[in-house]
Amino acid sequence: MSKRITVAIDGPAGAGKSTLARRIADKLGYLYIDTGAMYRAIGLWAVRANVALSDMHRLEQLANEARIEFVPGSGGVLLNGEDVTEAIRAPEIAEAASKVSMVPAVRRAMVAKQREIGERASVVMEGRDIGSVVFPDATVKIFLDARPEVRVERRAGESLLPPEIIARQISERDQRDRTRPESPLVQAPDAVYVDTTGLSVDDVEAALLKIIRDRTSNGKERTQ
Ligand code: C5P
Repeated sequence: MSKRITVAIDGPAGAGKSTLARRIADKLGYLYIDTGAMYRAIGLWAVRANVALSDMHRLEQLANEARIEFVPGSGGVLLNGEDVTEAIRAPEIAEAASKVSMVPAVRRAMVAKQREIGERASVVMEGRDIGSVVFPDATVKIFLDARPEVRVERRAGESLLPPEIIARQISERDQRDRTRPESPLVQAPDAVYVDTTGLSVDDVEAALLKIIRDRTSNGKERTQ
């Protein structure tokens, strides 16, 4: 019988995690889970409910009460039954997500939900702390990175904001992610580092599939 496989993909904003994780999940027939979308959903709810992003107690309540669902196959995200796929991509929600994700109780609630999903099925899960905290025993861990100017360029292609604003936002988010006391963005010691600077999406996809297949029997079973 084939066993559950967990592929953890971590790295900073604009490294290519979402594009690659989605493609790889499609190829291997695994569930794709974008954990950033979960923090964004909490950020969106907080902004809409006028909850201060410094109010740890209320943010904890929102995180515990939130029903976050991924619509299989479509990349859609539901918050308490409402389709928030588009709404969570707004720049001010990225900012809110980055702030709510610093709250330890919010992280605890999200990590519990992420483990629940990953314990039921084979997944490609992407975020900042998947290989280090959520699934320290993941079958395969990948740390995706790219030079900062390349990451800014990629995000600028997806946004109407001027590149200098995007550069500042990315740099502030990276700084918060890397320096927060709770689950900072770090490369797990057993993660494979992949620099996507100058590589096409197809090249990175091929490299990641090779890493995954080398550690599993063609994506189906643990080798150990
Ligand atoms: O990946 P994305 O940019 O959508 O994530 C939004 C924010 O959520 C990030 O800036 C980061 O602060 C936070 N995040 C996190 N841990 C994760 C995923 C995202 O702290 N596993």
